[in-house]
Amino acid sequence: MKLPKIFLSSPHLQGSELSYIEKAISDNCIAPGGKNTEYFEQEIEKFINHQNICALNSGTAALHLSLILSGVKAGDEVICQTFTFVASANVIKYLGAIPIFVDSEKDTWNMCPVFLENAILDRIKLGKKPKAIITVHGYGMPCDIDEIQKIAQKFEIPLIEDAADALGSTYKNKKCGTFGDFGILSFNGNKIITTSGGGALVCKNNKQKEKAIFLATQARDDAPHYQHSEIGYNYRMSNISAGIGCGQMEVLPQRILQRRANHDFYVDLFKDFAGISVFSEPNENFYSNHWLSAILVDESVAGFSREDLRLKFLEDNIESRPLWKPMHIQPVFADAPYYGTDVAENLFENGLCLPSGSNLSIEDLDRIKKVVDNLRK
Ligand SMILES: *Cc1c(COP(=O)(O)O)cnc(C)c1O
Repeated sequence: MKLPKIFLSSPHLQGSELSYIEKAISDNCIAPGGKNTEYFEQEIEKFINHQNICALNSGTAALHLSLILSGVKAGDEVICQTFTFVASANVIKYLGAIPIFVDSEKDTWNMCPVFLENAILDRIKLGKKPKAIITVHGYGMPCDIDEIQKIAQKFEIPLIEDAADALGSTYKNKKCGTFGDFGILSFNGNKIITTSGGGALVCKNNKQKEKAIFLATQARDDAPHYQHSEIGYNYRMSNISAGIGCGQMEVLPQRILQRRANHDFYVDLFKDFAGISVFSEPNENFYSNHWLSAILVDESVAGFSREDLRLKFLEDNIESRPLWKPMHIQPVFADAPYYGTDVAENLFENGLCLPSGSNLSIEDLDRIKKVVDNLRK
């Protein structure tokens, strides 16, 4: 008999979500926006110690609005980390803009500041200054944000932090998502907390937040009839989804500790396993929520590839997943300019995300451990 599936990262509800939803239903307040939405925004603001959060119906929507609010238009160039989830790059295309991909550095797996500066200088030389930079805190690991921000400021290019994976991660004790001109968060079902589907835009001031809400609610002008002078979107977070988020916010600190404990489990599991390294913070400036724990497999030392390992886990009904395939080698972005070497490509070739849910049981961890122990020489 097949054992139950162990997921990479599944929703982890805690109980009180339902009371917020019931209240929304009894108040007949279930449209986009409402009390839960506002309360959820306040709770996020307290947690990340930053004002002007705008709750939306996805992280992708937040990315899209961040580019619009940065003034990106059709034909503009936008720099984006190549090692990311496709949503970071798709939004550039939504606007008819051109993605310019930049490689990662080896220690954070995120945007390399050297390649970033090379890319900006070369694009300027070719006659076009990039209109925005999208950097990512992938799998919860903070990027080298000090260096990246310095470069963005030097060239006066708006910086967007894709912190979809990194709620609760910090760099020098400051929360990811609060450094750039805009930050974006995701509360999709697989993220560290969920609203089923949802996201948020972290704005620098109230004027931007109001503009974001305006755009997210169909860009309706102030009039008794429907009057529009701009293109709008239906991107606001519903009061029902926000209710789930309000419940989840009560346990966010616990969820971070649980994910970090998974990472510790893997560090211990692989500590004397030749050829396998667990993705960890490069130094004490970095604090990852370890949304997903990940490893690199050096096949020449370990004697098996990451794909061999993935299939071994699969035999035991344990889900694992190769690291992101970089955007510059995705068919859909085949003709986009790229600056870098093969860092991101090597991550994709040799890296694997492991089960990382905050709801993994001791039995689940035991099953994972057994698969790994069977691979020891
Ligand atoms: C999940 C994710 C997104 C998209 O968020 P959604 O809420 O699913 O739209 C964007 N960027 C990264 C890096 C992600 O992991």
